[in-house]
Amino acid sequence: MENCLFCSIANGDPDKLVWQNDTAAAFNDIHPKAPVHVLVVPKRHVEKLDDLDDAELAGQLLMAVRQAAEAAGVKGAYRVMVNNGAPAGQVVEHLHFHILGGRRFEA
Ligand code: 5GP
Ligand code: ZN
Repeated sequence: MENCLFCSIANGDPDKLVWQNDTAAAFNDIHPKAPVHVLVVPKRHVEKLDDLDDAELAGQLLMAVRQAAEAAGVKGAYRVMVNNGAPAGQVVEHLHFHILGGRRFEA
């Protein structure tokens, strides 16, 4: 999709990515909320989790989260979060999985 920030990052400069494969990309959050804060996104535009109707892509994205977490050095110790829709805190309208790690989390 044109003019989508995360479409541009995911399909842009590979040096800015923490990890990628054919369908997904991972990059550091610009305002990290933990020592490790990586975003995993599909390379093709999906607005939010509610719109993810492709089971194959859904599986690929979960595997991408695991692999990106390992690449970011937090295997075995990370939290995954998705904000679905503006009322839930979604600001960027391109599906993204937050991987947070490098510190302890309560509740
Ligand atoms: P949301 O609130 O939509 O779930 O999360 C959006 C995330 O994208 C936020 O954590 C925010 O810091 C991050 N973000 C916003 N703009 C940029 C950007 O231009 N580059 C990167 N790497 N992250 C961004
Ligand atoms: Zn997009």
